[in-house]
Order: sequence, then structure tokens, then C-alpha cells
Amino acid sequence: MNVIIIGAGIMGTTFATLAKELAPELDITILERLDTPGGGNSWVFNNAGTGHEANCELNYTPVDEEVISVDKAVKIHAQFNVAKQFWAYLIQKGAIKDPGSFINQTKHCTIVSESSIDELRLRFREMSGHHFFEQMRYSEDFDEIKSWIPYTMEGRPRDEKMAATVIETGTDVNFGALTEQMAEYAKQELGVKIEYGTHVKRVHRSPAGSWLVETQSGGTDRRYKADVLFVGAGGGAFPILKKSHLPFAKRFTGFPVGGRFLQAPISAEEAEQYRAKTYGKAKVGAPPMSVPHLDLRVANGQYYLLFGPFASFKPVLERGRGFLDYLRSMRLHDIPRLLNVALEHFPLVRYLVSETFKGEKSMLEELDSFAPGLSKKFNWKAVEAGQRVQIIKDGDLQMGTEILVSTDKTYGTLLGASPGASVSPEVMLRCLEQLIPSVFSTEEAIQKKKEIFPEDNLDALAKNPERYREIRDATNKTLGIHERDSE
Ligand SMILES: Cc1cc2nc3c(=O)[nH]c(=O)nc-3n(C[C@H](O)[C@H](O)[C@H](O)COP(=O)(O)OP(=O)(O)OC[C@H]3O[C@@H](n4cnc5c(N)ncnc54)[C@H](O)[C@@H]3O)c2cc1C
Repeated sequence: MNVIIIGAGIMGTTFATLAKELAPELDITILERLDTPGGGNSWVFNNAGTGHEANCELNYTPVDEEVISVDKAVKIHAQFNVAKQFWAYLIQKGAIKDPGSFINQTKHCTIVSESSIDELRLRFREMSGHHFFEQMRYSEDFDEIKSWIPYTMEGRPRDEKMAATVIETGTDVNFGALTEQMAEYAKQELGVKIEYGTHVKRVHRSPAGSWLVETQSGGTDRRYKADVLFVGAGGGAFPILKKSHLPFAKRFTGFPVGGRFLQAPISAEEAEQYRAKTYGKAKVGAPPMSVPHLDLRVANGQYYLLFGPFASFKPVLERGRGFLDYLRSMRLHDIPRLLNVALEHFPLVRYLVSETFKGEKSMLEELDSFAPGLSKKFNWKAVEAGQRVQIIKDGDLQMGTEILVSTDKTYGTLLGASPGASVSPEVMLRCLEQLIPSVFSTEEAIQKKKEIFPEDNLDALAKNPERYREIRDATNKTLGIHERDSE
């Protein structure tokens, strides 16, 4: 079977690697418009690099009239555990030599001021009772919180009431570095072909039923043929879907949201003092992807602090692509939907527009309200981040991701943005199960899947504490993640 994957980001590369591991006989080609793998949203500073496992993000545990729901947090944690199983497998195979080249342990903390202390206490009570979050600690003690996350506390008056939680075994993940190493492994060891600098312009069906993929590379047009197509092209998946003429394509429109961060290089000693990612509470009316957080980032052995994100209204599909590309991705029927969403979610649109015009001075003021005095301590600059394209489905704006597979199982795609790269192995496994179920039919594939994923059933992980702990401890050991007491 001849499979073409569009996009060598973390999604497309994971899809290719998994598929080839399970079914070496597949003939897989990845087509990527950039000259390197992982250069889109997966690139290190295009995203925040949080290994999202729901340790610290308040938006994963919504509260409604003092009732908290932890279902989403439990699901995301289980998905991240599956991701860690896959990455540990890649290390054991020698595909990745040094786990520190892409994953680094950082505390995951949540910090809130007085008005949200009850919510955080409730969250701690509910979550720490589940084995996924049994290592979570809670404090309202100034000195204890300061010992976890000094940069957020040093400049605060001691009598300011704050509360925080910490999980020591959180991670910072360089998804770009992970993608690069995985792509190299897929090419050299698994025989996946990767064509860089190749822009897919349109896809359509041949009369015989296979997919024809029209590309341009260095001014030359070329056509590829595929039995199965997987489009993992980030925001670029929308125009390809529109051109596919699949019936469900009409139901989807892209809603782009840009982003910026404040970034400061720091020394190894300073990084040692603040080995953390600290999430706060989103402002009223702000979308979930703009929860403020102050993160330690590790990239190519250098340390950085990152604060943000500052969302913005930026009508492009991907960073580096123009407005016209976005316009071309729309059809007439998309325009009333977009306008409708803009009217229905007017506070969101107003928020995005106001954030777009925020200057560096206001960004630094926001940093200071999160971590008083920090704007003066380091040399900050505003940097552009990646581009999210949220889904408008049947006229409704959605914040999550969606896997779409055509009924004849020849076209699959991933739309949307969140929680993203952190859960990519689990999401790509489900996508593969739906798109090419024959991959899982042989005894070899069943054994291989067990070797890669000792337990990929999210419910089993959530309901069986012993099994979960056994897998957690084994994968953490391979990935270089340690409990506090065993460091
Ligand atoms: C500001 C921000 C912060 C984020 N923070 C986090 C975080 O902390 N943790 C987390 O887990 N996730 C985070 N994410 C999400 C994460 O970055 C994405 O989920 C992930 O990178 C998506 O991977 P992808 O492979 O789908 O997309 P990409 O990495 O963008 O890859 C898509 C690839 O397709 C290629 N492509 C597009 N169109 C074409 C075409 N027509 N022809 C050929 N190639 C094409 C692109 O060049 C690109 O290389 C964040 C995202 C943003 C924007």
C-alpha cells in the first residue's frame, strides 16, 4: 500500500514512524514544504513546550458553581502517559540517543491569588485523590511556594495571599528536536521517504480511485499517487481538505489565532533556581490558549524563560504564510460562518484584537503582575510564536482537535490545535487505527504494538493504579524523570 503524508511536523512524523514500525511493508512518503522536519508549530519556540499532562492547567478542570470536573484532566494525563511510552520506546531502540535532547524535567506548578484560592484548593482535593495526580502538593505558605518557584514570589509582599500546587515530575519538551530525530530515524532505519521543499497545492481523486497529489518544488510541478493520504499539515490542512471535494469538507472552516511570547536567555545557574513551568488563571473573556505561564525552556543545551502567550488576531494558516493563502482556503459558504462566530464570540474577537496591538511595554507589565520585578531582572524580548487554526464545525467554534477519516478510509486528517504535540503518539495511534486498520491485523503487528505501548488503553490506565504506576515509573526512568526523593 502506497501512503502519502503531507507535513513533517510532529503529527505527520509520528504517524509515519508508528505505521512503519507496525507494518514495514507500507510504502510511505512524507511531503513537506519546508527544508527541515518540525519547522512548523512543532519548532521549539513556536510553542510553549509544556508536556501537557494536566498537572497545572486550570482550563482542563472547569468549575461550575463549586463543582469541579476532572474528566478532561484525567484523559489528557492518560494520553501523555501513552506518549511517554512511545518516546521511551524510541530511546530504547536507539532512535534517540539522549533523552535530554528533547525532554527535560521541570516542576509543573499552578499559582493563584486570593480570589481563586478556593478553586485551587478544590482542584487539589479532587485531583490528588486520583493516582494520576497523587504526587501533587498544595501550599498557601509564602516560603514554601517561594522554594518551588522563586521568580514568581521574590518580588511579592509577604502578606499577599497566594496558593500554589506543584508536581515535581512535569516536563519541558522540545517537540522540534524530537521531530527531527524521529524523522531521521524513520528515513534511515524504517525506509520512510521524505521530500523536503515540496509544497502540496491540491489533492484530488483519479478516476481509478487513488489520490493524486499535485506539488510544487523549486518551481517544478510534480504529481504523486497515493492509495491512502494522511494530511498532518497543521493550519495547512484546511485548504487541502477544501480541495479534496470530500463531502464533510464543507462543514469545516479555520479560525486562526496567532501568538507571541516574551523570551529571555538565562544561565544554567538561574535555570537551576527556577526549574519550573508555572500556570496562572486566564483573564475573564480570554480564550483557554492564553492562560498566562512562566516557563523554563531548554533548547540545544541553552536555557530560556518564556512568558505568555499573548494571543492575537492574525489571519494566516501558518507562520510564514500570507493572508492570501488563508483567503484561498475559504469558500463562499465559509464567510457567513466566520461572521457568525465573530458575532457569537464577540468578547473573544475583541480580546484578540486588543492583544494584537499590545506593545512590549504592556507585555512586560503583565509579566510583572505575574512575577513582580522579573521584567527588570532579565533581558526580555517579544518573539512571534506559532499559529493556531481552531476549528469552526457546522458554524460552532471549537478549541480542541478532531481526527477526520473519509468513509472509504483513504483520506485522514487532523484539524485543530489543542492539547497538541504532547498527546501526538496517542492521537496518531487512534488515527492509524481508523485510517489503515489492516496495519493491526497481523500477529507481528499485535506483538509490536505491545512492545511500543505496554498499555495504550486510557481507561485501563485511569482505573488500574498498579499498572499505571508500573508503566509511569519505567518510562520516567528511561526519559530521565525522577521523583524528588530519589534524585
Ligand atoms: C503558541 C502555541 C503554543 C503551544 N504550546 C504547546 C505546548 O505547550 N504543548 C503542546 O503539547 N502543544 C503546544 N502547542 C501545539 C503544538 O505546537 C501543535 O499541536 C503541534 O506542533 C502540531 O503539530 P503538527 O505536526 O500538526 O503541525 P506542524 O508542526 O505545524 O507541522 C505541519 C507541517 O506541515 C507542513 N505543511 C503545511 N502545509 C503544507 C503543504 N501544503 N504542503 C507540504 N507541507 C505542508 C508545514 O510546513 C509543517 O512542517 C502550541 C501551539 C502554539 C501555536
